[in-house]
Amino acid sequence: MVKGVGVSPGISIGKAFLLDRRKVKVERFTISSSMVESEISRFMEALEKSRAQLSQVKEKLVQNLGDQGHSRIVDVHILILEDETLINEAIKIVKEERVNAEWALRKVLTYFAKVFDQIEDPYMKERRSDIEHVGQLILRNLVGEQIKNLDEFSEDVIIIAHDLSPADTAQMHKGRVIGFATDLGARTSHTAITARALEIPAVVGLENICSYVKTGDPVIIDGTDGVVILKPTPEIFREYLEKQRRFKYVIQELLKHTDQPAETVDKYKIEIMANIEFLDEIPHVLSRGAEGIGLYRTEFFYMNTDKLPTEEDHFRIYKRLAEQISPYPATIRTLDLGGDKIQSKLHVTDEQNPVLGLRAIRFSLKHLDLFRLQLRAILQASAYGKLRIMYPMISGIEELRQANFILAEVKEELLSEGVYFDENIPVGVMIEIPSASITADLLAKEADFFSIGTNDLIQYSIAIDRSNEHVAYLYEPLHPALLRLIKFTVEAAHNEGIPVGMCGEMAGDPLSALILLGLGLDEFSMNPAGIPTIKQIIRSVRLEQSTELAYKAMTFSTAREVEAFVYGEMSSKFPEFF
Ligand code: PEP
Ligand code: MG
Repeated sequence: MVKGVGVSPGISIGKAFLLDRRKVKVERFTISSSMVESEISRFMEALEKSRAQLSQVKEKLVQNLGDQGHSRIVDVHILILEDETLINEAIKIVKEERVNAEWALRKVLTYFAKVFDQIEDPYMKERRSDIEHVGQLILRNLVGEQIKNLDEFSEDVIIIAHDLSPADTAQMHKGRVIGFATDLGARTSHTAITARALEIPAVVGLENICSYVKTGDPVIIDGTDGVVILKPTPEIFREYLEKQRRFKYVIQELLKHTDQPAETVDKYKIEIMANIEFLDEIPHVLSRGAEGIGLYRTEFFYMNTDKLPTEEDHFRIYKRLAEQISPYPATIRTLDLGGDKIQSKLHVTDEQNPVLGLRAIRFSLKHLDLFRLQLRAILQASAYGKLRIMYPMISGIEELRQANFILAEVKEELLSEGVYFDENIPVGVMIEIPSASITADLLAKEADFFSIGTNDLIQYSIAIDRSNEHVAYLYEPLHPALLRLIKFTVEAAHNEGIPVGMCGEMAGDPLSALILLGLGLDEFSMNPAGIPTIKQIIRSVRLEQSTELAYKAMTFSTAREVEAFVYGEMSSKFPEFF
């Protein structure tokens, strides 16, 4: 059994297909001056062929997922392929050093890799792997290697690979590729995002799974627990077959009730919303029973763009969001660029502690032109449905006032232009910095709603980097400090009569569901796949049961004790989920 990171839940049992996408071996040849032109043409042909292959992948992706957003990942690869620096540098090396195109390209790729290696930011590191994927594709076409398309299998396979490009993942027809496991990868990589969108069980970050597996080996992927079992014994095989059967049964049963409200036995109703990054996720979100969007991460709109989106671009997207999610509401979070987040041409400052740096609302308040443009677009789109505005990383009342001051100016501007919009659009604050939580009573007087962002609130209150595997053991949602911050925030909101939700990952974790309900949260917003389970849990209890559980949980002194208690309670009440 090998432990990795489960990025897409479920169990798949089948035969391995070892996809050797490791680097093409490149040799160096000197060429005569008369061969330079034909070598360049060979290079250009390989580029063209790679381009055609990527366009095909994109078409399939759109067909499979009805997708616009995720196919932008392939657009990025096409953009890299067309990058003038990459092409011109390779041609220059062929001409000046009189070497074969493979060698020239390898040299450029190595140079790019070095530049990207010096960048700390995890998002930019992902871009380095995008460049490498594209480079490998061109190299394969140059050396004439047959590319194994992942939609060509005639029987079910589990892909085992060093790494997969999002383009690879996109080709995985649901019926044939039934799971995958890779050496590399992280929760936030595009490949993981696509796997979740396709609902294929997947485990990544296994370090060297490729060296243990041969094509044809029996293998089990447990994407829920993040483990891969190689050559299972008949006993283990039966155990996982049963686990798989249970998983499928539970999902099937849950999906029958997605249209039911998240209401306790004694009729206490909670709003269940979804977090999204791309608009094409909306049909999936609705099929899972969401009653709106609790977090639209608009920074993904800036992902991989060379050009800044215009006001019209923003408006079109927000209008579509408002219309498609109607009659439900959608919460648009203003840009959360910076920190561990999406970097782009927009945000290239060199900061020692980017997570504590010019990020989110701080960034918007510094770049008022961008902030105004986004607010104008949201307001105009508010005429087409129910929209809400939410500010990320508010640290105290002053920032909220500054942001609201700009919003008021933008509203005036639109009124004077005669533009119609929702003048009472709700404006909320993300509670994800301890200082915001501790001053929640003050913030609640000037906000229409709160949404607790536990991903960051845990990071900042326990002082652990949310993306550093060395301190991952300290990342404890049930830490007494966090429970107190949540409780205080909820009480502060309710004292001022405003609703409070949660859009951090904790909101979709079945283990925490009753604690959060008991602490008084009004709205849960989560990854759409988690919605049916959370609804089911809420529908099975009386409100007072959850309140008792939450208060008992708060009597323990360590996160481990809280967790052991909650796990004991939840697994006996809901054995199907634990
Ligand atoms: C959070 O911090 O909990 C959150 C929802 O925002 P993000 O994960 O986008 O930082
Ligand atoms: Mg956050």
